[in-house]
Amino acid sequence: MYHVLLRDASFWKFLFEVDKDLANDARQQGCRCGGRLHSANYPRKPRGGGENLPESYTCRLSFCCDRDGCRKRTTPPSVRFLGRKVYLAAVVVLVAAMRHGPSPRRVRELTELFGADRRTIAGWGAFWREHFPQTPFWKERRCRFMPTLPMADFPRALFDAFIQHKDSREDWKRLLEFLLPITVNGGLAIKGNS
Ligand SMILES: [Zn+2]
Repeated sequence: MYHVLLRDASFWKFLFEVDKDLANDARQQGCRCGGRLHSANYPRKPRGGGENLPESYTCRLSFCCDRDGCRKRTTPPSVRFLGRKVYLAAVVVLVAAMRHGPSPRRVRELTELFGADRRTIAGWGAFWREHFPQTPFWKERRCRFMPTLPMADFPRALFDAFIQHKDSREDWKRLLEFLLPITVNGGLAIKGNS
């Protein structure tokens, strides 16, 4: 019953605190031009968090440089949002992992739990098993896992590598922090495919 944690408002609040820390780090670094960063959050309407999703989830933390002629945006990595995906990052991992485990859960059941339809869930499977392995992010990090994680079992294999205690916030934090580089702009780009 790995999904219980993702029904818990305190889990989502916990992840928001992690995001706030990441945002503070980015803000302290400032813009590359030397300018100061001001808050310029993106509105978001994330799905998959259930009814207990805190108000703080209606935006992704982001900044804008205050210097005229620059005004560049800086969007820190996030443990909540996986790039532009509408569903929360933890949901994109968990649902695809549950669908593709040793005893796969039925799509109907997952749809009832998380609200994602059949096509969306199939898309996540393709994302993890076809797109993700081609990213520079994964190519650089795959050798950290011993024994090698079987791509055919993704994202289940990745999930199992991190989530060792049922409904552990800390395990989830480690997994979502591992994925941070792919949550920012361009983080999921692969060669020859922008
Ligand atoms: Zn700047």
